[in-house]
Amino acid sequence: MREEVLNQSPPYVDIDLYGSDRPLQDAVAANGGEGGAAALSTFGKRWGTAEMFELARTANENPPQLKAFDARGFRRDVVEFHPAYHQFMAESIGAGLAASTWREDATPASAPAQVARAARFYMAAQIETGHLCPVTMTHAAVAALAGDRELAARFMPKIMSRRYDPHFRPWWEKVGITLGMGMTEKQGGTDVRTNTTRAEPAAEGYAITGHKWFMSAPMCDAFLVLAQAPGGLTCFLMPRFRPDGSVNGLSFQRLKDKLGNRSNASAEVEFADAFAWRVGEEGRGVRTIINMVQLTRLDCAIASAGIMRMALAQAIHHARYRTVFQKHLVDQPMMRTVLADLALELEGATALVMRLARAYDLGANDPGEAACARLLTPAVKYWICKRAPGVIAEVMECLGGNGYVEESVLPCLYREAPVNAIWEGSGNVMCLDVLRALTHEGEAARAVLGALAAEAADLPGTRAALEVLERGFSAQNAEAEARTAVERLALLAAVAALRQSAGPEVASLFARTRLGHRHGAMYGTSEIFDGDARRLIDRALPAA
Ligand SMILES: Cc1cc2nc3c(=O)[nH]c(=O)nc-3n(C[C@H](O)[C@H](O)[C@H](O)COP(=O)(O)OP(=O)(O)OC[C@H]3O[C@@H](n4cnc5c(N)ncnc54)[C@H](O)[C@@H]3O)c2cc1C
Repeated sequence: MREEVLNQSPPYVDIDLYGSDRPLQDAVAANGGEGGAAALSTFGKRWGTAEMFELARTANENPPQLKAFDARGFRRDVVEFHPAYHQFMAESIGAGLAASTWREDATPASAPAQVARAARFYMAAQIETGHLCPVTMTHAAVAALAGDRELAARFMPKIMSRRYDPHFRPWWEKVGITLGMGMTEKQGGTDVRTNTTRAEPAAEGYAITGHKWFMSAPMCDAFLVLAQAPGGLTCFLMPRFRPDGSVNGLSFQRLKDKLGNRSNASAEVEFADAFAWRVGEEGRGVRTIINMVQLTRLDCAIASAGIMRMALAQAIHHARYRTVFQKHLVDQPMMRTVLADLALELEGATALVMRLARAYDLGANDPGEAACARLLTPAVKYWICKRAPGVIAEVMECLGGNGYVEESVLPCLYREAPVNAIWEGSGNVMCLDVLRALTHEGEAARAVLGALAAEAADLPGTRAALEVLERGFSAQNAEAEARTAVERLALLAAVAALRQSAGPEVASLFARTRLGHRHGAMYGTSEIFDGDARRLIDRALPAA
């Protein structure tokens, strides 16, 4: 006789990732995206199918492989990905995640393009994040390419294509292309001015020689690369094939053996007289590529919020079915407080990333919103990406032993959690960037702070937070205090965003427990009363 399996939660699959997420719906609506709700729900249902969960497992259990040489010793320099990875690429590109916020002339599409894409990106990240690396880089690269009208005009039609084309062919022969980037070298990722890769003017462009220590998604069709030109550090677009159709001078040395992000490849690469076009002026490389980096930072925050959301949903789902000491876990007062505290964390994260996406939507025509995007992007990336590992670790525990086992999605989410904090500007670098924004955009940045203070004025803890900000940002040794101040800034922005989306009650609760210090070091120590706890949990995931 077969053993009867008792007291286990059913699989968390075949769900509408949008329709089951009230905080997301509220944040999308508050930021101008309500009109797209039906389409977002269609996307959410598709990505929440059991099939997509299974594809994600397969893509991560079968990491890409470098095929550096063929049988006769000729260089191949291709990376083979599992079909499941290709399917995710096709789905994401088909849904516009790589280009839907742009027009074909590389100018921004009108609002709410960013919010609509951010909501989809948030849902896609819940299922599979590795493939989102080239998707986000392709999307963000347009912001750098836009600086060169001629290059943009040639590449945009292929970037805008909603068709994924995995063939290793010259970009002009493909129906759609993806773009990556290579900045980090062995001696420095943050301090890219130490780049030693050299660029010499050559026929039709430049010849680039050197190396990159991290270059992810190496099967992209072209890469934005930094190299030292005669006029200083410069941004280039380096295609996999030269204009004459021959394979360009990129040799992949190794793929990184990474903690997570396993469906995606990150290569170490050498360039030998690799052909590239210059993007922007010589000596203005950082200035050119920073436009791209801002957008990838936004995506890091959205993706981290997404993986935290999947973890939270798994925890609530499990706690509704699992019985311990004659009660469902969700009805055990201490577990309920833990879940509610995690749900409150996600309320803030979701509201914050959608509000930030709105700032990008409006920034092209509204200098105040552009300043908001400039100041808050590093603060939000810092805060949200660094919260992810803690949230996911707590959720693992909610699932008990099952949460630690590979078949549950938690180990994959946990391995993924730290990467967004590290790449595209690690934590300290984000805090330094907030200080830079305050210095360089003084008045506009101060106006953003003033607006946040006004929006959250009557909520608990706001005044104290503003004092910390004021003291921290004007301190003699501002760098040493920057983490404290940036944390307060992100929380203040979350409170303001929550007030617009989830409403004053949730905003007040968030402010009281986060800004007002009514919590300890662990989740489950926030002062959340029982009625509020139940409401937060039901908002996060309605009972089936
Ligand atoms: C999975 C993965 C994929 C990646 N893909 C790419 C890619 O496609 N392209 C690419 O170009 N790079 C990529 N990177 C590299 C990544 O962007 C860098 O690792 C990152 O920018 C940090 O650079 P670094 O490793 O050289 O560390 P460092 O620059 O040496 O920094 C180390 C630490 O010092 C801190 N720090 C730096 N300066 C200061 C300061 N002034 N004060 C205080 N603290 C400071 C940083 O915050 C960090 O914590 C990838 C990395 C990973 C993990």
